[in-house]
Amino acid sequence: MRADKLLSHLGHGSRREVKRFLRQGALVVNGETVKDPKTHVDTENQEIELFGEKVTYREYIYLLMNKPSGVISATEDAEEDTIIDILEPEDVIFAPFPVGRLDKDTTGLLLLTNDGKLAHQLTSPKRKVDKEYRVTLSEPITEEALRKLREGVLLEDGYKTKPAKAVSTESNNIIFLTIQEGKYHQVKRMMAACGNHVEELERVRMGTLYLDDDLSPGEYRELTEKEVQRLS
Ligand code: URA
Repeated sequence: MRADKLLSHLGHGSRREVKRFLRQGALVVNGETVKDPKTHVDTENQEIELFGEKVTYREYIYLLMNKPSGVISATEDAEEDTIIDILEPEDVIFAPFPVGRLDKDTTGLLLLTNDGKLAHQLTSPKRKVDKEYRVTLSEPITEEALRKLREGVLLEDGYKTKPAKAVSTESNNIIFLTIQEGKYHQVKRMMAACGNHVEELERVRMGTLYLDDDLSPGEYRELTEKEVQRLS
């Protein structure tokens, strides 16, 4: 692969930026600085260093993050901290983006990838991918509310949600809610339409992917090959 293409695949922006980085000596291949954008780099067999860091080239990255509260699930923002700010530089260079969104105060499972095809599959309403949330409520859940959630709730804007799976727990204030849609603030609005209020929201599952018990908020790990295969 050409040196300039390699840099842009690794998320280093426009042609002009890539050329500038090369001129500045950002790319070292087998111990030699590569400044000519046309130089062929053998990504399988040569040792590649970018900005002083060793890089194992591959096209896609898949990260499972336990999103902490207080950061937004966007790739950049002028004022707020984003989930990208949490990532290590060697992961940022792949230019991952979040698959779907979680509110700033929502915690839990967030998948980040640069695989646009998989992201589209997981977020397309046609695919009906489960999103399961642990919902902590201000008021005890009622049988009437559980029935409404299971049948579909009329939101304040007139939209009726599709039937959801709602499971109560031993604590009256905590339920597990599984939806296959992804409307704006959907869970919070569903609970508001049932006369309740969401105190805490944590996503625990997306399709076949579960949030690991030992991943603290702000921590993340790569998916295994098997997990990626099962998702698509
Ligand atoms: N529903 C919400 O209300 N917020 C989220 O972050 C996710 C689902």
